[in-house]
Amino acid sequence: MKTLGLIGGMSWESSAQYYRILNEEVRRRRGGTHSAQLLLWSFDFHRIEQLQHAGQWDALAVEMAEGARRLQAGGAQLLLICTNTMHRLADAVTDAVPVPLLHIADPTAARIKADGLQRIGLLGTAFTMEQDFYRGRLERTHGLDVLVPDEDDRRTVHRIIYEELITGVVRDASRQAYVEVIQRLVARGAQGIILGCTEIMLLIGQQDSPVPLFDTTTLHALAAIDAALDD
Ligand code: GLU
Repeated sequence: MKTLGLIGGMSWESSAQYYRILNEEVRRRRGGTHSAQLLLWSFDFHRIEQLQHAGQWDALAVEMAEGARRLQAGGAQLLLICTNTMHRLADAVTDAVPVPLLHIADPTAARIKADGLQRIGLLGTAFTMEQDFYRGRLERTHGLDVLVPDEDDRRTVHRIIYEELITGVVRDASRQAYVEVIQRLVARGAQGIILGCTEIMLLIGQQDSPVPLFDTTTLHALAAIDAALDD
C-alpha cells in the first residue's frame, strides 16, 4: 500500500472526512483490521483564509510548497490537497516535490463523464467558482460545460462555507439556501452539481437535489485509495 500525504487543515472539518473515508475504503476493500497508511500536514486555517482573502497567493504558494516538502520528508508517495480552492496552487506543490499529486478535479470529471453528463453546475468558494484554475481544468482538460451560480448566489454559497461549515456550524436555513441555488442551476440546464468545496458534503446530500451530486471529498479520497492499493 502506498503512503498518502494529505495537505489538509483547510479546513480540518473536511480533513476529518478525508481521514474517515480513506480508512473506511481500505477496510471495505482489504477487510479486517486494514486501514489507510497516510501522513497529514494540517495548517492553521486562520492564517490560510486571511491570506486567501487578501489575495496573497504568492505567500500561500510558499506555505503549500513547505507542506508538500514536509510530507515528502515523511515518506509520502502520493499527495492530496484536501481542498478545491487551494488547487489554485497545485503547480507550487508539483514544482516543490517529485511526489505525484492527485488533482481533485480529475476523479470528479471522470465520474461525471462516466455517468454521461456534460453540463454541470459548480458550487464552491468564490475563488473556485470565479477563477480559471478549477473551472478551466474541467472545461479544457475534461471537455465539460460548467455553470456557476449568479453573483448573489455565489456570495451566499461562499459565505456559508467560511462563516459556518469551516467553523463546524450546519444550519437548516443554509441547507435550504443551497437547495435553492441548486434548483436555479438545474433550471439553467445543469444535469448534475459538483460539490466543489470539501465541506459542502457536511451540509447537503443527494436527497437535497433533483440531479446527481458529485462530492469532491468522497471522489478524491476514493481515487486516492484506488492509486494507493494499486500495487
Ligand atoms: N475546503 C474548501 C474547498 O474545498 C474551502 C477552504 C479553502 O479555502 O481551502 O475549497
